Order: sequence, then structure tokens, then C-alpha cells
Amino acid sequence: METLRTDVVVVGLGAFGSAALWRLARRGVRVVGIERQAIGHPFGSSHGSTRLFRVACMEHPGLTRIAQESLRLWTELGEQTGEVYVRQTGSLNVGGPDSRPVAGARRAAAEAGARTTELSHDELSQRFPQYRLSADDVAVWDPGAGICYAEPTVRAHVAEALRLGATVYPHTKVTAIDPQPGEVRVRTPTVEVRAQQVVVCAGAWLGKLVPGLPLSPRRTPLFWFQPKDPASEAFRLENFPSFIWAFRDGRGLWGHGADEGFGVKVGMDGAADERDVDPDELDRYIHPRKDIAELSAAIAEHLPDLDPEPVKVIPCMVTDSPDGQFLVGRREDRLVIAGGDSGHGFKHCAGVGELLAQIATKETPSLDVSFVDPLRY
Ligand SMILES: Cc1cc2nc3c(=O)[nH]c(=O)nc-3n(C[C@H](O)[C@H](O)[C@H](O)COP(=O)(O)OP(=O)(O)OC[C@H]3O[C@@H](n4cnc5c(N)ncnc54)[C@H](O)[C@@H]3O)c2cc1C
Repeated sequence: METLRTDVVVVGLGAFGSAALWRLARRGVRVVGIERQAIGHPFGSSHGSTRLFRVACMEHPGLTRIAQESLRLWTELGEQTGEVYVRQTGSLNVGGPDSRPVAGARRAAAEAGARTTELSHDELSQRFPQYRLSADDVAVWDPGAGICYAEPTVRAHVAEALRLGATVYPHTKVTAIDPQPGEVRVRTPTVEVRAQQVVVCAGAWLGKLVPGLPLSPRRTPLFWFQPKDPASEAFRLENFPSFIWAFRDGRGLWGHGADEGFGVKVGMDGAADERDVDPDELDRYIHPRKDIAELSAAIAEHLPDLDPEPVKVIPCMVTDSPDGQFLVGRREDRLVIAGGDSGHGFKHCAGVGELLAQIATKETPSLDVSFVDPLRY
């Protein structure tokens, strides 16, 4: 058994952990990252080609600044690597005037200064004829929004951390986190890392490594579609930018158009997902009736020019917290955590990684983190 001493150890190198590793290495901190799978693997929550990037975040106005910080950090990284991590196409928050996407984006504009434009029902239906709208649907346009590239971003965080001197153990499962006087010991079958601080970003497994957190992993696949008319340009990303759309029955659709390397992505809010799943026992088969029927019916009704049969489906998980907000911050003296992504974490991961690095090194966080404080539970 190898024993290693370091300043900080990061457990789990998905979206949040890979970003924390990068931002810690960027500070010159001695940091070790441990990931039970390969880097950029498809068994957690951060795989697939893309995630929606939004600035006028309906979930909480405090998230606007974290998304802006992610964008700033990814732009800096992209200038160095020559890659693009966010593509800003703009995004639509669609629904009735009091619906969550519309009211939430307005709140982000009013309280956090997110730049937005209002679209009336008529403007929306003229500019975006792909949508079969309800009579009272309006939209808030979020011009800074778009898509982020999921797997390449996780890989880029880790590659940059390695370049800056981090040590990474892929294919290594953490089996115990053991606080001792003066240090914390992180155990795996092959290496024990002794550190001043541990940052645990284990996604759907966070509750297994840090007991007492009210987290509920949910099975929710990723879906891609194509237009009924394969020659149609209507569902290209530039014509069908990212959107989140609430229906009156409490459900809704979200997604974005097709581009090089991926089809039209559409998912459903309020679908009958399986909750409280054990991430080690996740059902990785796709079942037409259980997984696809409800979404296909919603697409047939609301996006009638899209073929409602998906061309690709892959399993994925989100980890819900009771208030739909992340848990990011210090849980114990030597233990910092990030998780409970509640299905909207990717766009924030670089900003969250920076905040985790600040918290682990006892700097004052540069943004408000009170609404994601893990001690609220
Ligand atoms: C269908 C779907 C759509 C989504 N859409 C969006 C979107 O449009 N926009 C958006 O911003 N977000 C979106 N999200 C949410 C986003 O993908 C997640 O918030 C984000 O990926 C969560 O990252 P994470 O780091 O918490 O988890 P993960 O990326 O899963 O990372 C956790 C890591 O910990 C590792 N690990 C676990 N246990 C151990 C252990 N014992 N030892 C070592 N390593 C361990 C795992 O292998 C994994 O790599 C979506 C999620 C899903 C499922």
C-alpha cells in the first residue's frame, strides 16, 4: 500500500471535482485527485456531448454569478488550449407569465443583473415556429446562454490540473474517509492519501461517502432526436437554441438543436423518473415504455416537426436535494463537499470548482455561497 501526503485530496473527478482539482492546482496547492472510473467516463452524471448553459438561472439569482464565473474561467482556459467550452447561442425560457422559467429568469435579471429580453407570444411564435405554443406562452431571452460541452470540459479540467502539477489516480475507488487529529486519511485499495483537507465531489455516490446528507439520486436518461424532414434546418442549433419550457400541467421540456457531432437534444421535467436509486445498481437498460413513451408523446404534441422516436438514448443520473439547490461548502473541519446537483450543475461547475478551492484553502469565497451551504441540512 502506497502512502502519500498532500495538502488537499479531491474525491470524484466528474464536473465539480475535476474543476476543483484544476482550481486548486492553479493556486499551486499540492493536490491529489482520485476517480474510481476513467476520466470523462459515462457512468455518473457528466457524460454525453452537451449541457445547457444559462445565465438568467431560474433556480436562484445567486447562480447567475456562478455561471458568469464559469464562463470567465472556461474562456481563459479556452484561450490557452484553443478549445471552446461554451457556445453562446442565447436561450429561451418559455411558459406562462408566472411559470418557473419565465418568472425565475425575470428574478435573475432583477436581482442579479442577468441581461434578458422579453418576447411576447406573437414574437415568440414568429421567430420560433418549431414550438406549438399554448395561448399564454411568452418567453424570456437569455442572450448569454447556450450550451457547454460536457465530456471535453471534464477532460480539459483534469488535463490542465495535471499540467499544473496535480497528481491523479483514475480507476481508484475511495473506500473510506477518515478524519484524524491533524489530518484526514483517504483510503483506497492501493493508496492512502493523507491530507489537510478533503473535497468530496462524488455525485450520486456522495451520500455513500458522507453519511447524513439528504440526497436522492434519480435515474434520468439523455435523449437525442432528429427532424421528421432530414433536410430541415429548423432544428439546427443556430435556429433552435437552448430552451426550457414549462407546461401548465407541471411538466415541461428542455433541450437544444443539432450541431456537428450531436442531434437535437430534448429532455423532460416532471417525468416519472425512478427516484432514490442506488447508483451502484443503476438500471442501464433503456425501456421503450418506461423511458421513452411519455417524452415522445410530449414531443409529438409540442414540437410536431420533430420525429418523436429518439435516435439515441443513454442512461444518466441527477442527485436531487430537498430544495433543488446544490450543497457546496464546508461540512466538517477538514471536509468540504459539492453535490446535490439537482439536474442543473454542469454550467456552474467551473465556478463551483473555484469556490471549492477557495473554501478548502480557507480563502474568503468570492461569491455568495450561503444558499448552497451544506450545513443548512
Ligand atoms: C439528463 C441530464 C441532463 C442534464 N442537463 C443539464 C443541463 O442542461 N445543464 C446543466 O448545467 N446541468 C445539467 N445536468 C446536471 C449536470 O450534468 C450535473 O449537475 C453534473 O454533471 C454533476 O456533476 P458531479 O460532479 O456532481 O457528478 P459526476 O460528474 O457524476 O462526478 C462524480 C464522480 O465521483 C466519482 N466517484 C464516486 N464515488 C467515488 C469513489 N468512492 N471513489 C472515487 N471516485 C468516486 C464518480 O465516478 C464520478 O466520476 C443534467 C444531468 C442529467 C442527468
